[in-house]
Amino acid sequence: MVLFLDSTLREGGLFKQFPRKTNLEIARLAVETGADIIELPLPYRTDESETEELISRVREVNPECTVILHCRAYEPDLEQMKKFDVDGGAAYLAASDSHRKHKLHGMTKEDTEQRLLETADILKGQNWNYSRATIEDASALYLEDREFLLHLVSQLEKRDVMVSVPDTRGILFPEQTQNFVQDLVKTGAKLAGHNHDDFSFANYNTALQAKGGFYEVHTTLMGIGDRNGIADVFPTAMLLETLGVSTRIRGDKAERVYREFSAFTGVDLSFKHPLSEAARSLSAGVHQTYPEGYFPESKLRQASIILRASSNLSSKIVDKILKDAGHELDTERARELANLLAKKALELGADLTSDQMAEVISRETGVELDPARISRYIGQDQVCILVKMKPQSSSMEVKDWAIRQGGYRANILYASPYDLVIFAPNYLDGKAFVDLLREKYRGEIENTETAITD
Ligand SMILES: [Zn+2]
Repeated sequence: MVLFLDSTLREGGLFKQFPRKTNLEIARLAVETGADIIELPLPYRTDESETEELISRVREVNPECTVILHCRAYEPDLEQMKKFDVDGGAAYLAASDSHRKHKLHGMTKEDTEQRLLETADILKGQNWNYSRATIEDASALYLEDREFLLHLVSQLEKRDVMVSVPDTRGILFPEQTQNFVQDLVKTGAKLAGHNHDDFSFANYNTALQAKGGFYEVHTTLMGIGDRNGIADVFPTAMLLETLGVSTRIRGDKAERVYREFSAFTGVDLSFKHPLSEAARSLSAGVHQTYPEGYFPESKLRQASIILRASSNLSSKIVDKILKDAGHELDTERARELANLLAKKALELGADLTSDQMAEVISRETGVELDPARISRYIGQDQVCILVKMKPQSSSMEVKDWAIRQGGYRANILYASPYDLVIFAPNYLDGKAFVDLLREKYRGEIENTETAITD
């Protein structure tokens, strides 16, 4: 079992600053991933009350979760950290040549070691159940002065703190990471891995560290962090599961957590992401007949599969959709129908929506299918809902509700006759999203306008 530390609010905050309300949602989502430890930044410029509120939020969502603060290996910071009701702390100092020369005003190796050990003593002196010293830029130090890095790690191990050995520059290739892990694990220290993604190896390098015996690994939601970020929680856990290492990460919640995270923060999943809609979609007709043959097994357990209704649509899918609704077509007829649907998709230059599919099927066969049923196979149609609130009613609450219910995006509108725009799946458990919305806020919504979008 390897422990996962979520650093979305600390490392991720370097990628994008979010307002307090959003940070509280991020804290909740970070805990919901199943992460064992949540790391928050020591407030330098932000309000201390926000940090206190974030600590409480983590504890509310899961009292078992360890909450820690992260600061510089610098006495005033460590002093400030003691003021908060947390389970532990982590402090960092760089030890590589270039960092000591350019950032730390020519600090010597001896000074660096001294300061790290003093920091470890201060952290230990708190009697927290979590204390960690971070040797920033450890990967570069490994490549330039391996002995010094191993010496530092061994010294810190004697002080009984966890030692973080980040690949700050994101320079390690997986083969190098394997050597790095082997050498470091021999010191007997409790190690933490933190890998930047500059060469796109962060997830895999992190998985290698966990497999090789690291005690803790650092991830963020969608891997956000400084530059192009660090390891991404769900894909890293998926790699680990495949490598036979257990974690407490809830892969079954990945789609929901990332959808909400994206809706609250405006950060989108790239199509290259292992859990994006594109990554869960099969287009080729021959692939659609046997989805299991085209996905890693661990991904099938985490992600729902979409069989796109494109111009390559398989007749077997058409057959299956009809059969599930209790209608049988002979093979020839199913093929003809699939050809018609494919032709329509080609003409439109887009995937068909479930409404469009239902319409063609009804016209050609007389069979009436519920579009919500079709969308289970071909993915959700997206609906755009414009909402006009009654005076004195809050569009903010409706916005948050829409996101929690399954919306992809919701924005307050200005300079418009409407107050809010929501992008959401057209159907939710067989019911139109707009109907659920109108039902829930009957007394507060004046009117709505909807359109299916691509
Ligand atoms: Zn970092």
